[in-house]
Amino acid sequence: MLRQCIPSAASGRTLARRASCPVFVLGAALWLTGCGPGGPLRCHLNPDVQRPSPGVVIFLADGLPPGLVEQGCAEGWLPNIQKRFFEGGAHVRRAASTVPSITYAAVASMFTGVLPEQHQVVGNRWFDPEQALFRNYVKIAYYDAINADCTRPTIYERLQPAACANIQTALRRGVTYNIANWAVSGMLWFFWDFTAVDKLSVSSTGEVVGWANSQRHWPTILTYYFPALDTVGHRFGPGSPRYDRAIRHVDYQIGRVCDWLEHEGLLKTTYIVLLSDHGMIAVQPGGHVDTLTLVRDTWGRKATDHVEQGDPRWLRQAYYDDFDTIVNDLDGRCTSLHIRSCAGWQVRPTPAEVQTVIEAPPPKAQLWNIPGVELAAYLVADDDLLLRSGPRQARIRTRAGPNGTEYAYVPVPDDVLGYVGDPDLARFVSAGYHDSRAWLHATADQRLPDLVPPLMSLLHARRAGQVVLFAQPGYSFGAERGGHGGIDRDERLMTFALAGPGITPGTVIDTARAVDVTPTLLDLLGVVHDTGEFEGVSLVDAGLLSAEVGRPAE
Ligand SMILES: [Zn+2]
Repeated sequence: MLRQCIPSAASGRTLARRASCPVFVLGAALWLTGCGPGGPLRCHLNPDVQRPSPGVVIFLADGLPPGLVEQGCAEGWLPNIQKRFFEGGAHVRRAASTVPSITYAAVASMFTGVLPEQHQVVGNRWFDPEQALFRNYVKIAYYDAINADCTRPTIYERLQPAACANIQTALRRGVTYNIANWAVSGMLWFFWDFTAVDKLSVSSTGEVVGWANSQRHWPTILTYYFPALDTVGHRFGPGSPRYDRAIRHVDYQIGRVCDWLEHEGLLKTTYIVLLSDHGMIAVQPGGHVDTLTLVRDTWGRKATDHVEQGDPRWLRQAYYDDFDTIVNDLDGRCTSLHIRSCAGWQVRPTPAEVQTVIEAPPPKAQLWNIPGVELAAYLVADDDLLLRSGPRQARIRTRAGPNGTEYAYVPVPDDVLGYVGDPDLARFVSAGYHDSRAWLHATADQRLPDLVPPLMSLLHARRAGQVVLFAQPGYSFGAERGGHGGIDRDERLMTFALAGPGITPGTVIDTARAVDVTPTLLDLLGVVHDTGEFEGVSLVDAGLLSAEVGRPAE
């Protein structure tokens, strides 16, 4: 969270400097949130408030790793998630987040139903060569710029004129009632009271109830965002005692809301949805990989990772015109390079131009050979992607199929992704081209799950750069104790669980993707939509609802 997800401690400091009386603001923050994890919610909906049937309540727990959720439910130390979701509803056994596995890209995919190439929010930071814009959402002035940047409709917009409410999620375009809590949560951040921000999210229920009472209707979707676990993981590591306390705290806060929904009679008509955007992986001491120094000092390129996102555009353009390489090394375990073409930043460089630059350095200074880099990927043609890891090389190829793009992984000369050691998967790989969903099913148990279609897609995104690097386990391109953004299953898999009317308790769905959230929720809400608009599929089609209920009437 600190580096990845909402304004950083540095932003908190800025906020503190700006506040005319920080002590007063802190007092207000403590008054609003109180001490301890918070007791039962005491607000009440008036009898005349119209309740959508069904409605949806989303818990978006940043960085909540599905492996730990499963373990906590089996061992009984996540009692609320266990009761409400694992026993009381359905969960996905292997749900894949986006590539890169990072908050803004993943949340945009969940709430639009398409991959980053389509919605163009390709990370928490990205460089857009056409706009000469280096976006960094992890600055307080820009944390919600995603609402302008995301190029596809959100689920909230699709539901309009139905009213929706959001508490603390940055992507809220189309929401009727939004609670940002940025001043109070910024102050709590400043004083490192991260879990209090999760509690604040739940405590804001009272404000939503006040609005619902005044409007006489309860929102069709209410989204709660819990940022603390991710921040604690980045700062203290995913194996730390604070991380353990933070995950239990998330469970407790979910319990507060579910108990309240039940008490108000809302639970029986509400789908509750538990989502995370990615997992987390430990970074060892000394595990920082410095790509900017390599590219600038060893390669001799005019390279920068400096962020310019203010207006006017010509000033940004003038700044970046001085450089020939932009290194986006701020997104944890993923880094990307933008190479300026011979025609300038406005024209995408050809694969040959890119290859000339990145293959020129001596072998030990090449991106795929530097310690801590697991994989470098770049296009050698529009339908041909080269995967490099140390001396090893493989390819991903695409072709047009009758039902959309088909993908092949060519482990020649080397099995860079480690797929052919599994006999079933080896047969699948050698069979050649398959559709995107088949790759998800075939690779979901691998250490690098669901990589082939999403990586090919990412390399076609303008804002993603021409070369993308992912760190080995234990390493990060940022200085942090825990990270994500890479391709390892500990960071790529996300939590995805649902409960509500018609969902048989104890249901297990085999696989899903982040992009499945929007089509699934639209189906559950009975909203007619064109499946061709989404890269995700509805879990209703995967047996989410019991046979007696079936697909909601459209
Ligand atoms: Zn996150």
